[in-house]
Amino acid sequence: MGSVLIVAEIQNGRIREASYELASVAQRVGSASGRSVHSLVAGSGVESLAAEFAKRGGGTVHTADHELLANYNAEAHATAIKAAVEASGADLILLSNTPSGWDVAPRIAAGLDAGFVSDCSDVADDGGALVFERRIFNGKLDAQVRVKSDVVVATMQPGATEPFGGSSDGSVVKLEVSLTADKAKFIETKVAESQGVDLSKADVIIAGGRGLGAAEKFDEVLKPLADALGGALGASRPVVDAGWLPHQFQVGSSGQVVAPKLYIAAGISGAIQHLVGMKGSNFIIAINKDPDAPIFEVADLGVVADLFEIVPALTNAVKAAKG
Ligand SMILES: Cc1cc2nc3c(=O)[nH]c(=O)nc-3n(C[C@H](O)[C@H](O)[C@H](O)COP(=O)(O)OP(=O)(O)OC[C@H]3O[C@@H](n4cnc5c(N)ncnc54)[C@H](O)[C@@H]3O)c2cc1C
Repeated sequence: MGSVLIVAEIQNGRIREASYELASVAQRVGSASGRSVHSLVAGSGVESLAAEFAKRGGGTVHTADHELLANYNAEAHATAIKAAVEASGADLILLSNTPSGWDVAPRIAAGLDAGFVSDCSDVADDGGALVFERRIFNGKLDAQVRVKSDVVVATMQPGATEPFGGSSDGSVVKLEVSLTADKAKFIETKVAESQGVDLSKADVIIAGGRGLGAAEKFDEVLKPLADALGGALGASRPVVDAGWLPHQFQVGSSGQVVAPKLYIAAGISGAIQHLVGMKGSNFIIAINKDPDAPIFEVADLGVVADLFEIVPALTNAVKAAKG
């Protein structure tokens, strides 16, 4: 039996939360299938990050410490990952479905002649075979993928799993790897201007659609409910296209994929491109005056009513309940 190798990602000097989500998956699949859990922490000066990762589910953490790894460099990172695969004997390699994951994961799969499954929401051991869950056709179908190759590389959707919560008795070992990067060179990182909206971390999202009718209705009607519930605002694409809210609020196939504990959709019809971004939410309340709106098909609680009556009433009820 092989092992599971997590490729941890470092961002702004810290291991990304998505890597701790990989640790959850690896620990679960590892104990179900008898695979040991290994990780790679590759960067420059990563000792303490590796120790932290070992404590939080990373199993045997291999460190590749080199100045060429200080910033993402496809060539250098791919070399380090291959060395970690050899050192760990991994037959399942997990990366996050992030820009660097998209870039390096297929390279690794091609280099190892391994199978590749991208953007998975889950992996399970089914009587010795690995089964990968992923959504296809813009979320219309859930596919279960079984890979025939002996080694599989998979990228996992951030936010699809809880980060590893237990303690682990992992250890840190140094990976001997000789690195060169002749073809790829790090030049600079350009950070897009952000208004600090990371909907993938919000527990509660109050999303508005075209039914709001105007930009100011977000502030007047939805924001008070979001504030009362300690939640964040979200939006459908027409809202963003109309310039009522910036793109980082958009939920859906061309926006963010979210999975909050509570998602309230007000004045959103429930087009498939929207549903794909929010149907993994734990509890969905839909408010729409059209009883046939498709959003009701995914809602746990549907309210057929005018949002301009229901949302303020709900806001008052939440405030009253909180005292
Ligand atoms: C390639 C592609 C990518 C896309 N990506 C995305 C994406 O990422 N996210 C996304 O959201 N969409 C996306 N779309 C657009 C998507 O197809 C829909 O057009 C969009 O989701 C509809 O947004 P909506 O529900 O706000 O508007 P509408 O479909 O116009 O629905 C408005 C709803 O509000 C209700 N309503 C109106 N007034 C009230 C009221 N007073 N009270 C209660 N209800 C009311 C109406 O009954 C209606 O159901 C994409 C489309 C394409 C082609």
